[in-house]
Amino acid sequence: MAIFAPRSYVREARRRVAPKRERIREIVARLALTHPDATIALRFRDPVELLVSVMLSAQTTDVTVNRVTERLFRKYRRPEDYVAVPLEELEDDIRPTGTFRQKARNLRGTMIMLIEEYDGQVPERLEDLVRLPGVGRKTANVVAAELGAIQGIVVDTHVRRLSQRLGLTRHEDPAKIERDLMRIVPPEDWARFPHLLIWHGRRVCDARRPRCEDCVLAADLCPSSRI
Ligand code: SF4
Repeated sequence: MAIFAPRSYVREARRRVAPKRERIREIVARLALTHPDATIALRFRDPVELLVSVMLSAQTTDVTVNRVTERLFRKYRRPEDYVAVPLEELEDDIRPTGTFRQKARNLRGTMIMLIEEYDGQVPERLEDLVRLPGVGRKTANVVAAELGAIQGIVVDTHVRRLSQRLGLTRHEDPAKIERDLMRIVPPEDWARFPHLLIWHGRRVCDARRPRCEDCVLAADLCPSSRI
């Protein structure tokens, strides 16, 4: 007796939509219309505050970081201020953001490097940013983009999930996903593209329960659409 495997829903759906290079501009345009407020949610006033906020945001929410930095930035105004206090005091000041011992060590090491090698300034080149303790490619990309020195595309958990669902990449590794996205997303959209995916991921394309029925991409742009 012949056994028929069920046809792959995703493979079938992929045939419904155009190739990714033909869809990408329309995806960006529709998401930009849907989420005109999609920008970084962290609050900062200068490049050092930006760097600190992004470093603190690992494994916690932007709301928590903003609550902590509201006080933190009144006390620590320059890189030297982070080095002047005992490490335990800095740990206490950032404790609510989680993994605070490691974050405090990284902040301290980063500030020392900024002072000793970068004249107290936050560098803009990715290869310099990733030299700072605790600064990986994602953090470096966020900082560079906000400084207006865009050199790549931020890949976080939302960007990874949505890029996969939209058929823009088949990879799991953030570096490979970033390479795939950089090949198809127009460079002028590299800065806003991750914000659009992050906000769409939070509001519509939930990890467990994507709300395809409310999604502007569902009808013709998303191969994973369930409608
Ligand atoms: S159609 Fe569904 S799976 Fe595709 S992006 Fe929208 S919510 Fe996500």
